[in-house]
Amino acid sequence: MPGSPVPHRTPVKGLFNVGDASYPRGFAGSMGAATSAVLVWDDLRTAV
Ligand SMILES: Cc1cc2nc3c(=O)[nH]c(=O)nc-3n(C[C@H](O)[C@H](O)[C@H](O)COP(=O)(O)OP(=O)(O)OC[C@H]3O[C@@H](n4cnc5c(N)ncnc54)[C@H](O)[C@@H]3O)c2cc1C
Repeated sequence: MPGSPVPHRTPVKGLFNVGDASYPRGFAGSMGAATSAVLVWDDLRTAV
C-alpha cells in the first residue's frame, strides 16, 4: 500500500520482501519495486 511499505528484511533468514510493497520511503511504483530489489541484492552481496 503506498505510504506504508513493509521492510525488505524479514525475521526469516534468507527470506526478503521485494516489490512495490517494500520500497524505501521516497520511492513509488516500479522504481520503488526495483529499488527494493537493489536493497535485497546489497544484503545478499554483503552476506557472502
Ligand atoms: C493502472 C496502473 C498504472 C501504473 N502506472 C505506473 C507508472 O506509470 N509508473 C510506475 O512507476 N508505476 C506504475 N504503476 C505501478 C507499477 O505497476 C507497480 O509498482 C509495479 O508493477 C510493481 O511491481 P511488483 O513486481 O512489485 O508487483 P506486480 O507487477 O504486481 O507483480 C506481482 C506478480 O505476482 C503475481 N502474483 C500475485 N500473487 C501470486 C501468488 N499467490 N502466486 C504467484 N504469483 C502471484 C501477480 O500475478 C503479478 O504478476 C501502475 C500501476 C497500475 C495498477
